[in-house]
Amino acid sequence: MVKELQLRVTLKEEGHHDILVIKSAQALGVDKEDITGVKVLRKSIDARKAKIIFNYKVAVYIREVMPKTSEYQFDYKDVSKAKPIHIIGFGPAGMYAALRCIELGFKPVVLERGKNVQDRRRDLRAINQQHFVNEDSNYCFGEGGAGTYSDGKLYTRSLKRGDVRRIFENLVYHGATDQILVDAHPHIGTNKLPKVVQNIRETILKYGGEVHFETRVTDFIIKNNKIQAIQLNGNDEMPADRVILATGHSARDIFYLLHEKEIALEAKSFAMGVRVEHPQHIIDSIQYHCSGERHELLPAASYSLVQQVNDRGVYSFCMCPGGFIVPAATANGEVVVNGMSPSKRNNLFANSGIVVEIDVNRDLPKYEQFGALKGLEYQKNLERMAFTAGGRSQVAPAQRLTDFVEGKLSADLNPTSYQPGLNSAPLHSLMPKLIGSRLRKGFAAFGQKMKGYYTAEANIVGVESRTSSPVCIPRNERLEHPQIQGLFPCGEGGGYAGGIVSAAMDGERCAEAAIVGL
Ligand code: FAD
Repeated sequence: MVKELQLRVTLKEEGHHDILVIKSAQALGVDKEDITGVKVLRKSIDARKAKIIFNYKVAVYIREVMPKTSEYQFDYKDVSKAKPIHIIGFGPAGMYAALRCIELGFKPVVLERGKNVQDRRRDLRAINQQHFVNEDSNYCFGEGGAGTYSDGKLYTRSLKRGDVRRIFENLVYHGATDQILVDAHPHIGTNKLPKVVQNIRETILKYGGEVHFETRVTDFIIKNNKIQAIQLNGNDEMPADRVILATGHSARDIFYLLHEKEIALEAKSFAMGVRVEHPQHIIDSIQYHCSGERHELLPAASYSLVQQVNDRGVYSFCMCPGGFIVPAATANGEVVVNGMSPSKRNNLFANSGIVVEIDVNRDLPKYEQFGALKGLEYQKNLERMAFTAGGRSQVAPAQRLTDFVEGKLSADLNPTSYQPGLNSAPLHSLMPKLIGSRLRKGFAAFGQKMKGYYTAEANIVGVESRTSSPVCIPRNERLEHPQIQGLFPCGEGGGYAGGIVSAAMDGERCAEAAIVGL
């Protein structure tokens, strides 16, 4: 017999290795010895009150063997001789598009401008230490895309839970911990992600797909509004019939290329702001109602904040507990920050993007001349401002949180996890008013919601500008570009995803669409 139960476990009880069996036996009125297994289906922490509770949803096996295998089987086929589907970009969207092609019996041919995960590390070191950005290999570009050196948070708000489970199961199949199947807020961590990404590549190769690194797509050869071929690294042409374009939100050259070729694009609303960094113990003490260190069984605390300010949302984005701020620029001459954390989230800092919604139809009248690229140009200007204010390297401009809100230059800054370093700058006056004034009011409001959050011990670091794509590449109900037959805009770059999981799901959808009629 199998029974599903909800169990509440206190912090004190959580340490007891048998607690789920004991509580299940009590709840079901059976002998502890009759319970053959307890499978955790979901786990979350409720820290809203001083008494912290771990909530479990469990399946209790009574005198019945608990199965070990997953309900998901991935039916990968030998596709070495199958018809090709070309996939540009090997981020979550491209990786999952490729895996889905294999399941469907088509051969994925992946073209990725960046390097494999191992070689990519050297370029990340160069950004952090020499302040040199390799424009094809950085925190956004390379094997696994922007999701590889990240926090690997796997939350998604918008889509069907069933599909999410498939994405998670496939991550577990490729080496991610099965803890992600049960945690209410699952994450993998930047130390574990490269291996998962490498395993995905190995599956693709094993079943006869192709993955070409250091291969940038530089043009599309189109005849009679139909894709004929793609140009690689400015030279070779590769014939292609069905092309999934999964190049992410930072592939500006792709947006410019499509714009020049008069392939329809649309400006898309997005969000920009700064990253705020607190000592982790401050966030822990607020969220866990404690004064000293958090209890050893509790993970580094996170938060999620939102406030309407003058008709626009100001909200926290990609919060990384126990993490690092990283330089996420994709070109020299710009400073962009983002966040990542190791799986244990055991660094001393908590960082989060705090961003303001930008409505491209109302907020950018001075950028109208750029048409569909107006948001992109605005984003670029903010990143150049950050580069100049930081001192023209990857050093980022920063300010103490309280000084930013009060409009004062900081005499000095707090310690930081951001490796290239910080430079004190008057971000309150450098940020466009549209963003800066709302951020200042937003931070003041967050201080009311979370007592202790508004503190001089926190820095704000500029700029968090790559939250989502400022451009949408349109597609019709067949997921094909309405003007170009055979072109399937996909993932975050097209404007169809916001994060690892939604990009992966969109990759699967595009693979299913791209094979129709082949
Ligand atoms: P991308 O991941 O951007 O992949 C696009 C790929 O296309 C890149 O590998 C790029 O090199 C390649 N490419 C671009 N142009 C070309 C070209 N011309 N030719 C060939 N290849 C090209 N999301 C979460 O859900 N959770 C997180 O914790 C999280 N943390 C993040 C931390 C950091 C530091 C960053 C930068 C992002 C983070 N994100 C996170 C966002 C997440 O990574 C993206 O939403 C996701 O990767 C988008 O997937 P994608 O496949 O659509 O595009």
